[in-house]
Amino acid sequence: MRQSKLFSKTERTPPKDEAARNAELLVRGGFIYKNSAGIYSYLPLGLRVIRNLSAIIREEMDAVGGQEVLMSALHDKKYLTASGRWDVDVVYKATAGGEREPHFNLSWTHEEIMSEVAARYVSSYQDLPFAAYQIQTKFRHEPRAKSGLIRGREFLMKDLYSFHATEEDLRAYYAKVGDAYRRIFERCGLHAIYTLAAGGDFTAGNTHEFQVIAPIGEDTIFVCGSCEYAENEEVSKLAEGDSCPTKCGGVIRREKAVEVGNIFPLGTKYAEAFNLKFTDRDSSQKFVVMGSYGIGVSRLMGVIVEMFNDEAGIRWPAAAAPFRAHLLALGGGAGDEAARKHADAVYEYLQRSGIEVLYDDRDASAGQKFADADLIGIPWRIVASPKLGDGAVEVKARDTKEAKTVSLKELIVEIKEHSKV
Ligand code: ATP
Ligand code: MG
Repeated sequence: MRQSKLFSKTERTPPKDEAARNAELLVRGGFIYKNSAGIYSYLPLGLRVIRNLSAIIREEMDAVGGQEVLMSALHDKKYLTASGRWDVDVVYKATAGGEREPHFNLSWTHEEIMSEVAARYVSSYQDLPFAAYQIQTKFRHEPRAKSGLIRGREFLMKDLYSFHATEEDLRAYYAKVGDAYRRIFERCGLHAIYTLAAGGDFTAGNTHEFQVIAPIGEDTIFVCGSCEYAENEEVSKLAEGDSCPTKCGGVIRREKAVEVGNIFPLGTKYAEAFNLKFTDRDSSQKFVVMGSYGIGVSRLMGVIVEMFNDEAGIRWPAAAAPFRAHLLALGGGAGDEAARKHADAVYEYLQRSGIEVLYDDRDASAGQKFADADLIGIPWRIVASPKLGDGAVEVKARDTKEAKTVSLKELIVEIKEHSKV
């Protein structure tokens, strides 16, 4: 894509109303636009990141048999009333047509909706197990929405729901989804720690969270320095300096962390609320056993920026980056036709070679182009300038200091070899 055509622009000065580094850099880079506290719109660059993360998540959800759906976002009051959650304080409620009492709420989660859908189609043990997921907007009244994409009032979540005949089957699937989550976070460039957690609003039993250690985190976890066994402070009896309960010999540390995903065994709570039953082999009627599994897709984007940035800007891991390469046309001012033609040719060559590239073809100074490239944070920066000689370009990885001059052929090899995603 030609940067001269991109309607979003970079900003040099940090926004006044953003405390979090992720929001500051994403707003300045033109990835997102802040509409209100905790409410953001995704601009072309930002949406490309969301699409990359979503693609990884979809692949891994499909691999564990998840079937993608898109549930409604506006929910009749009857759903949360049935599960006893209508008065949960994070729920945004909607009135319309002059009515005084709200009849709807905006989706804050989808256990209820999904359970009712399942009840329509499940009648026998032969209909089980199955799992359905979506990537969709959730709305929550978060009083402290100060962490940019990490805590939105409106945000994107991937939620998966699984339906089973037995508790054992749920347990086996729960472990499988846990492994899929590990792969997802790893592919996104994050190290997420599998952490024992409280049931939250959903279930009395224990659940698990995937926590990324980061200063911006609002959670506190106790984690073993050796085997990484971890517990959320909310459920933990551990203290800093304790020896690890797994007896691995490691010592427990206390860390601030951000929850990027979680997995919940729900049991039969929602099946009971929505009369989700099946006839078992022995002809008895039983409630379906459910699990639910969330990942904050937009939060993931915020966490990645928190983890990968320096004073100049973002350093996207290859899998998340909006483009693979950022081509800068240098040498010659506005009227320098030769320089432009030279850079255009490199741009076309990269595209033909299957490299997604943002092409800075603007009439801007070299200094501004370099600064913007560092801010936007695409993994490979390529400089095209007639000064470099015929068929040669300069290439630099965002996370290294040294640039080198290579031929176009070498460039493609370099990029493809070093950014396998
Ligand atoms: P938290 O404790 O951070 O409020 P939660 O326990 O309310 O999270 P869930 O309801 O289980 O989270 O949601 C599933 C996932 O959605 C979380 O693991 C997190 O990654 C993400 N998430 C939750 N709330 C938000 C939010 N306000 N903004 C962005 N992502 C969120
Ligand atoms: Mg919450």
